[in-house]
Amino acid sequence: MTLDPELKKQLQHLDGVEADWDIMLAGHTSLRVGGPVSCLLRPLNLAGLQTAVQVLNQNRHPFFILGRGTNLLVQDEGTRAVAISLEKGFSQVECIDPSGRVKAGAGLRLNRLLRFCLQQGFSGLEFIAGIPGSVGGAMRMNAGTHAGEMADVCDAVYVLLANGNIEKLMGAKLRFSYRRLELPPAAVVLEVELLLTPSSRDEIRRRIRSLLKVRQEKQPWQLPSAGSVFKNPPGDFAGRLIEAVGLKGVRIGDAQISPKHANFIVNRGQARASDIHALIQLAQEKVSQEFGVQLELEIELVGNHHNS
Ligand SMILES: Cc1cc2nc3c(=O)[nH]c(=O)nc-3n(C[C@H](O)[C@H](O)[C@H](O)COP(=O)(O)OP(=O)(O)OC[C@H]3O[C@@H](n4cnc5c(N)ncnc54)[C@H](O)[C@@H]3O)c2cc1C
Repeated sequence: MTLDPELKKQLQHLDGVEADWDIMLAGHTSLRVGGPVSCLLRPLNLAGLQTAVQVLNQNRHPFFILGRGTNLLVQDEGTRAVAISLEKGFSQVECIDPSGRVKAGAGLRLNRLLRFCLQQGFSGLEFIAGIPGSVGGAMRMNAGTHAGEMADVCDAVYVLLANGNIEKLMGAKLRFSYRRLELPPAAVVLEVELLLTPSSRDEIRRRIRSLLKVRQEKQPWQLPSAGSVFKNPPGDFAGRLIEAVGLKGVRIGDAQISPKHANFIVNRGQARASDIHALIQLAQEKVSQEFGVQLELEIELVGNHHNS
């Protein structure tokens, strides 16, 4: 997992970029599991991010954007890829049109964005109430619920492309699907423009409270998790299928299929990524055997055997 010394030297001296070395990703994911990365870069501005990406690409070294780590399962062995966090330099938010247009940085936390929209009296984003994570992660995942998803409110996305150029994607270039936004290879979401609707603050607040109440009733919000583990198969619910095959509450090590919601895997203390993998496989096998349905992961795997 050690970094090539030449590359390390270059990364240590990047203008406008802070770096942490040899850190455990367990401290940066909502599941509280995950092994080491040799380097976590925190660009403080666009120029810093551009140089960091350029250096990594020139060295053909893989990297990934670490949002708030709320949709990730990082391997116990960690990953060779360098992690980049946009939290420090890309967390701005502004109203760009009083009719309801908001521009937000990719590193901004979703709850801050929602609070900003409430203060402005802009409705449309209430569905993200209770979804942890960053604006960039929510865009990439097309985060949402039955009450709405990012695709409904997103008008444009600014991305940094692998060749260093910045492109504004809008209209047909925004290819959203269920829990996914297709981006050009290795593109980094920098900022998004959202189209919302002016509304009364009381009404927005009421909607947020009622969505949060349902979430607290149905989901195991007191224990570390990464939200829904599997995508819902067409016309059905992953949680219903997992419960129907008798796996609700089943535990491997400190990882458990939540007794409250079977599509959540919770960490009851010292769970390892391998325990969570074992539960994932068990659920996939049983549901496939009994219902002939292949459960697809909603969470993303990070590690040397996977995409990063
Ligand atoms: C308790 C709980 C409840 C949840 N409920 C929901 C829910 O109701 N609906 C839902 O959709 N999700 C839910 N989630 C999952 C998660 O919160 C969302 O997917 C969230 O949007 C992920 O954001 P993040 O910043 O944590 O992204 P991360 O988990 O850090 O990253 C997710 C992916 O996005 C990529 N990424 C992040 N930032 C960028 C960027 N700037 N540019 C390019 N790629 C980027 C990462 O590389 C990774 O591939 C829940 C999670 C938890 C823990």
